[in-house]
Amino acid sequence: MSEIRKIAISLPLTGEEEWQACREPLMSGWLTQGPKVAAFEKAFAARHEARHALAATSCTTALHLILAAMEIGPGDEVIVPAFTWVATANVVLYCGATPVFVDVERNTCNLDPADLAARITPKTRAIIAVHLFGLCADIDAIRKIAPDIPIIEDAACAAGSAYKGKPAGTLGLAAAFSFHPRKSITTGEGGMVTTNDDALAAKIDMLRNHGASISEEQRHNGPRPYLLAEFNLLGYNYRMTDLQGAVGLVQLGKLDQFIDERQKWADYYREALSGIEWLRCPEIPEGYRTGWQAYVCYLDESKAPMTRNQIMEHLQEKGISTRPGTHAVHMLGLYRDRLGCRPDDFPGARDCDRYTMAIPLHNRMVAEDYAYVVETLKAIG
Ligand SMILES: *Cc1c(COP(=O)(O)O)cnc(C)c1O
Repeated sequence: MSEIRKIAISLPLTGEEEWQACREPLMSGWLTQGPKVAAFEKAFAARHEARHALAATSCTTALHLILAAMEIGPGDEVIVPAFTWVATANVVLYCGATPVFVDVERNTCNLDPADLAARITPKTRAIIAVHLFGLCADIDAIRKIAPDIPIIEDAACAAGSAYKGKPAGTLGLAAAFSFHPRKSITTGEGGMVTTNDDALAAKIDMLRNHGASISEEQRHNGPRPYLLAEFNLLGYNYRMTDLQGAVGLVQLGKLDQFIDERQKWADYYREALSGIEWLRCPEIPEGYRTGWQAYVCYLDESKAPMTRNQIMEHLQEKGISTRPGTHAVHMLGLYRDRLGCRPDDFPGARDCDRYTMAIPLHNRMVAEDYAYVVETLKAIG
């Protein structure tokens, strides 16, 4: 009996160059945020056409830094799509503010601008627009409904993505990216804030480093390295290490190559899977570029021979990993209990939670893997 092919839902493409990149910080002994992080930030800002890029330990902490710098706190409301990774809503709670959910569209899985107006109150301080799976939220439509409310991009999945010719990262006041291994490029764990706002960037720079008025590197290289910085803000330790910065710099150099390859296989899937009437492939509207963080399909159970979960189980038995796109945050115990949310409050998010399925698409897959996924899906009938 031949061994069955095993295909992971996602695997980062890292190797010799990332390994070598860690050499310099390890040999020099400068391990925390220093010259490698600075170089990574500079390159990341240039690639995303942002004035500032500030590294953090994750996208979650990057989002927290943005909200903290905006002084969002108790009594404030922040709008969050109901279908996203739980961290998008959690960061609002970190600040003592209240997340207010808005529904998502079933075709893009992104914030539904038609549901937005009803969620805005005099307490709304920001809208977190999530670019889910790499597809940018419709920022123009959001801005039209809420022209005076700052937009924060949750660009966790959107390194290298673009909206109407503009890169993700400067579509709102500030953006947060993730370098978790499931995202387009990785540093193990890691995140990045981008913004064109000088004052916000300066504040985030301090907040990520205990609220210190200058960074360790500036202090060490300055005229009085023996004196400690001033501390006037309640900050955090959200510093990225230079080991991660070194890896990030190498990964960033491969970002466009990664995306081009993912795009090629996304096109292949779209074509090859078009005959399966119960499976809807992701649609990328005109004018968008997605980084294809994940390839998330939507199932029509009324036409399928099995339920979504049975299909996922069947694929698992065939060696193919799948996952629900992400979760409906309002249906998680934390938010159900805290905010009294019911599943039907956000029917788009509820349905995306039930009927989405990510199939494998990543840069370690080969042509035979893609063909096997297609063949196995088609055989379901
Ligand atoms: C992955 C993800 C996050 C969290 O990123 P971390 O770097 O793991 O903190 C936040 N929002 C979305 C939409 C994500 O996909």
